[in-house]
Amino acid sequence: MSSNSFLPYGRQSIDQDDIASVAKALQADYLTTGPGVGRFEQAFAEMVGARYAIASNSGTAALHLACIALGLQKGDAVIVPTLTFLATANAARFCGADVIFADVDADTGRLTAATLEAAFAKAGSAKVKAVLPVHLNGHCADLTTIRAMTEPRGIKVIEDACHALGGIHQSGNSSTAKVGACALSELACFSLHPVKTMTTGEGGVTTTNDPKHYKIMQLYRSHGMVRDAADFRHRDLGFAPDGQPNPWYYEMQALGWNYRITDFACALGESQLAKLPRFVERRRELVALYDRLLPALSPKLKIVPAQAGDNAALHLYAVLIDFAGIKKSRAQVMAELKGQGVGTMVHYLPVHQQPYYRDLYGKQDLPGADSYYARQLSIPLYPDMTDADVTRVVHALRSVLG
Ligand SMILES: *Cc1c(COP(=O)(O)O)cnc(C)c1O
Repeated sequence: MSSNSFLPYGRQSIDQDDIASVAKALQADYLTTGPGVGRFEQAFAEMVGARYAIASNSGTAALHLACIALGLQKGDAVIVPTLTFLATANAARFCGADVIFADVDADTGRLTAATLEAAFAKAGSAKVKAVLPVHLNGHCADLTTIRAMTEPRGIKVIEDACHALGGIHQSGNSSTAKVGACALSELACFSLHPVKTMTTGEGGVTTTNDPKHYKIMQLYRSHGMVRDAADFRHRDLGFAPDGQPNPWYYEMQALGWNYRITDFACALGESQLAKLPRFVERRRELVALYDRLLPALSPKLKIVPAQAGDNAALHLYAVLIDFAGIKKSRAQVMAELKGQGVGTMVHYLPVHQQPYYRDLYGKQDLPGADSYYARQLSIPLYPDMTDADVTRVVHALRSVLG
C-alpha cells in the first residue's frame, strides 16, 4: 500500500482468492439458500467456538433474530448502553420491547457495574428481560461482572459483538473464551459490513449454544416458514391421503422476515473467514504500534484502555481528544487531518439523543456517554495499513493538535 494515499478510518481487504471464490459461487446452481450458507455457518461457528451460527443479511438482522430468540415482546424491556450504533437499541424496538439506556464509562465508552446498576434502578418495575452489552471498538464489555449481575435476576445477555470478531475475553478467574462462544451470554451478534473485521458485503451472524434459540432464528430468518414435513401443523393440507407429504407444500407458523443471506455472499464470507486470524494478527500489530506512539500526545489525546485480562481484536481505534484544551473544534481537527490524508469518524452520538428516542422517552442525562462522545475520534485501522501509515497518522495528529 502506498503511504501517500488517503487513509480512511477503516476499509475491507479483498484479495484475488476472495474474488475467485465469489465468481465460483455465481456459476453454481444456487445463488441463494444453497449449500454455501450452511458451510459458512459451520465454519463461523467453529472459528468462534459456538455450537450454532445463523447467517443473515446484516448485523441488524443478527441482533433482531437474537431478540426474537429470547421472545422479546411488547411489555418487556432491555438495557442497552447508549454509546453504540442505532441497531443495538432498534433490534429490541422491532420486537416492541422498550429500551432503557444505560450510561457508560467516560473513558472507555463501555458499560460498568455502576452504570448497569443505575440502569436497573432507572428500570424500576419494568420487566427487564435482557441486557445487550456492546464490545465498543472491539474491547469487550466486562461480561463476568454483567453475568454476575444479570443471572440472579433471571435476565439474559445478548452480546453486540459487531466490533469484536476474533477477540478473546476473560471468562472467569483464570479462564478465557473467544468472542462469539457465548461463554457468558445466550447469544452473540456480528456484522459483516465492509468496514468490520471481515466482510460479506452486507451480512451478519448470530451465534448461540442453545438449540431452541437456533431453531427459532432459522424460522424467523425466512418468513416464519417451514418446509420440513416433520414440522407441519396442518396434516390435511400438508399430506396426501397416502400419507406422503405434498411436494409443493410449505407452512407459515409465525410472522417472520426475509433475513436470508446469499450463497455468493457466504462464498466471500468463507474465503474471508479463512483469513480472519491474519486480519486479527495485523490489527493487533497496528494497535500495539499506536499504543506505543500515542501516549506521547497526552494529555491532549488519550487512548482507550482495554478490558483487563482480554486479548481484544479491535475494529476501531478510538482516541479521546481535549478539543477545548487545544482550542480547535472537532470539525476543524477532522478537516485538518483530512488535509493530511488521514480519514477519521465519530463513533457514536449516544443513541438516547437521537430524535426518535428523544420523542419516545424524553431527554435523559447520561453524562459518561456525553463526555466520551464529545472527545471521541476514530483514526485509521485496517489490515492493509503499513507501519509507516501508522507513523504518518501519529505525525499528522501531533501537528494538528499542536
Ligand atoms: C455495524 C454495527 C451494527 C449493525 O450492523 P449492520 O451490518 O450495519 O446492520 C450493530 N451494532 C454495532 C455496534 C455495529 O458496529
